[in-house]
Amino acid sequence: MSAIRFNALQETLNRVPLSIKETNRRSELFAQNVFNKRSMLQYMTKESYTSVMNAINYGSKIDRKIADQIAVSMKDWALSKGATHYTHWFQPLTGATAEKHDAFFEIAEDGSAFEHFDGGQLVQQEPDASSFPNGGIRNTFEARGYTAWDPTSPAFIYGTTLCIPTVFVAYTGEALDNKTPLLRALQAIDDAATDVCKYFDKNVNKVNATLGWEQEYFLIDKALAASRPDIMITGRTLLGHSSAKGQQLDDHYFGSIPTRIMNFMRDLERESMLLGIPVKTRHNEVAPNQFELAPIFEEANLSVDHNTLLMDVMEKVSQRHHFKVLFHEKPFAGINGSGKHNNWSLSTNTGVNLLSPGKTPMKNLQFLTFFVNTIKAVHDYEELIRASIASASNDHRLGANEAPPAIISVFIGSQLSQVLDELENVTKGKLSPKEKTDLKLNIVGKIPEILLDNTDRNRTSPFAFTGNKFELRAVGSWSNCAGPMTILNTIIAKQLKDFKKEVDALIETKNLKKDEAVFNVLREYIKASKKIRFEGDGYGEAWEKEAVKRGLSNNKTTPEALKAKVTEKTITLFEEMKVMNKVEVEARHEIELEEYAKRIQIESRVLGDISRNHVIPTAIQYQNTLIENVKGLKEIFSKDFEKFAKEQIDLIKRISNHIAEINSKIEEMTNERKKANKLAGQKHADAYCSKVVPFFENIRYHVDKLELLVDDNLWPLTKYRELLFTK
Ligand code: ADP
Ligand code: MG
Repeated sequence: MSAIRFNALQETLNRVPLSIKETNRRSELFAQNVFNKRSMLQYMTKESYTSVMNAINYGSKIDRKIADQIAVSMKDWALSKGATHYTHWFQPLTGATAEKHDAFFEIAEDGSAFEHFDGGQLVQQEPDASSFPNGGIRNTFEARGYTAWDPTSPAFIYGTTLCIPTVFVAYTGEALDNKTPLLRALQAIDDAATDVCKYFDKNVNKVNATLGWEQEYFLIDKALAASRPDIMITGRTLLGHSSAKGQQLDDHYFGSIPTRIMNFMRDLERESMLLGIPVKTRHNEVAPNQFELAPIFEEANLSVDHNTLLMDVMEKVSQRHHFKVLFHEKPFAGINGSGKHNNWSLSTNTGVNLLSPGKTPMKNLQFLTFFVNTIKAVHDYEELIRASIASASNDHRLGANEAPPAIISVFIGSQLSQVLDELENVTKGKLSPKEKTDLKLNIVGKIPEILLDNTDRNRTSPFAFTGNKFELRAVGSWSNCAGPMTILNTIIAKQLKDFKKEVDALIETKNLKKDEAVFNVLREYIKASKKIRFEGDGYGEAWEKEAVKRGLSNNKTTPEALKAKVTEKTITLFEEMKVMNKVEVEARHEIELEEYAKRIQIESRVLGDISRNHVIPTAIQYQNTLIENVKGLKEIFSKDFEKFAKEQIDLIKRISNHIAEINSKIEEMTNERKKANKLAGQKHADAYCSKVVPFFENIRYHVDKLELLVDDNLWPLTKYRELLFTK
């Protein structure tokens, strides 16, 4: 083992586990640092409180004078908690979060100091954010961007800073962030779903989309990670021979959590609790050093904010515990990658989960309506869903022999499949009295008891119904849930809007009763969306073939998948649902293609650098030792020397071959990069995907062979077995 690797390992093993005292109950810690209803009631006037509540529930505007009052209350609360600064917290298109801190501190005319925060500072700010990606929007319009308060997500204190969740938009109105389109999509689904709910319950006047994500991640010792430039710069290992032991014994999944990791988790959960992130479950995942954390689900906008905040908190807490947290979807070759399941449902202001079967046939008709419409929307926009989860790092999972495939399909379980099959045979037009009774009692009426024993959950499906919610499983662990959530809610809003039109038309023109009309439309949807339903093994080769026959898309790479984001169908969808206009859609597409190319470019450079600066010099050094050895053997055994030096001479040759291969491949790869860099947009990304990426595996193959040949004492890079099994 090299000195660097030895020191890194030594540092790790000498570390005394930090122990966190857990004195407080979770419920007492929860949301202590959040300006939620409880703190608002305590610090605000009744008028301000009502105004904020109306903004949250009905999107009404907040008067400037009231905003001043709210700002003062917020400041008083923040100061009482020890905050010194405030920031507009937003989610630019980099996928991360951004913040710029300002002190509450001001100086009065007489020179005295005081704390100040007013409505203007709360409501709108102009960050000097000209270097955030904007896809040409701000250049085209020569407009600046500003951040504006999103009252639907409560302000919170992180460290000593009051963070105010905001949207980030250009002065001309175009969204420059991830949150704005999400909020618009959530508005669209609220409107569309509320309208449909009125068929079943007149008291419904608001529908919230709900999201519960499950965040997977790896924890690697910080000192060990720091000895790997690939991990530090790209978030994954570009090189490294697999460890003799990987995950084949299945001994990590749900196993006991090591003390040092447990301390990290407790600390993380404590911080999350204070910030109002309702984390609930934690466990080991399939791969060594891989874990998962999941919260109780929340309204989707808040839940997205909480996920991005959590990822930030995880980075900080992991530092304290001398870990590096890896969110990359595939940090290690040969063992499982990480995802972020997005559990999604719809919930009414009357407290009903619209994807939860009810106790009466009427409630179940409502359930079936939302259930079938969701399937139909996924059917109509499967390619767009695939595009919503595309990224350079997620390409390593989707369609690359690992869960889930790049083909989008829906799993609903055998019992619900049977219900849909039966519904498909409902008579067109008016129903006979017998059919009505039959439907109510035997088909729709049976759903709840059926679901209770619906245990056949298919783990290979990218979009599965799991009893009272759908679970989009193909989202990458590194991604911002806002992207897929914007698309999912938009397509379902569009679907529900169309459904309403069709049902109303049947009621008016065909004189059908409401239930009959609903059954009639659902029957057509069930027929029309059949090809998206798949109950079998989603990882198998047979499914790939079958999916082609069914006409489903299978876009394996990001540049290919992203095309669905700018088709006419997509632009029409976003414009109709008022989620994004053409300029916004195209700007985002441009940013995503660019980001893809940049990520591959960085990986390619790092791979070239490590191979040339770390691997080849080490291989040569070892080769020189072998050469010296052979020379020595020749001196001692002049006659028989070949007998004793056979292995060494063979090694010398093999090392030379690998070095030569690595060198020539790096050269070719660099040339391809140069060619790619002359291109732009789709062609630029395509070139990186089809011309540069293929070298990665090839170069890695030879480097990993050298890792096996070269003396362990000399090898400069921390090996898989050390990265994965050091706890
Ligand atoms: P898994 O078996 O895939 O780990 P779980 O049953 O543990 O799934 O579910 C997990 C997630 O589903 C949790 O994060 C939970 O908050 C979320 N969830 C449950 N009900 C809903 C709902 N109605 N809407 C959105 N998410 C939900
Ligand atoms: Mg899950």
